[in-house]
Amino acid sequence: MITGMWDDINCPYCGAGQEINHDDGYGYEEGELYEQECPSCNKIFVFDTLITFSYTGYKADCSNGSEHIYEGTHTYPVEYSRMRCTMCACERKPTKEEMAKIITERQ
Ligand SMILES: [Zn+2]
Ligand SMILES: [Zn+2]
Repeated sequence: MITGMWDDINCPYCGAGQEINHDDGYGYEEGELYEQECPSCNKIFVFDTLITFSYTGYKADCSNGSEHIYEGTHTYPVEYSRMRCTMCACERKPTKEEMAKIITERQ
């Protein structure tokens, strides 16, 4: 997750906060230098990228002895749908009844 879509960087010349232009994935390569023009003072400066990752923890009761909570995946074609646990993301084949339900829900 890349955070901070606003005021990503301050111009090293005038200090104006601005967004990094990430069009076409530009500016995401670590260890590369990218050029950007400051809209405030019109000077070109370069920046490099340090990508940080953030993690969020979720409860996974089914990994702690509770039942998995399965939901049908939205696969196309519908016959290839699987049942995926909403907590741990494990998958299994749907039963006949579940498949019938998925097909009905999708109509
Ligand atoms: Zn500037
Ligand atoms: Zn699970």
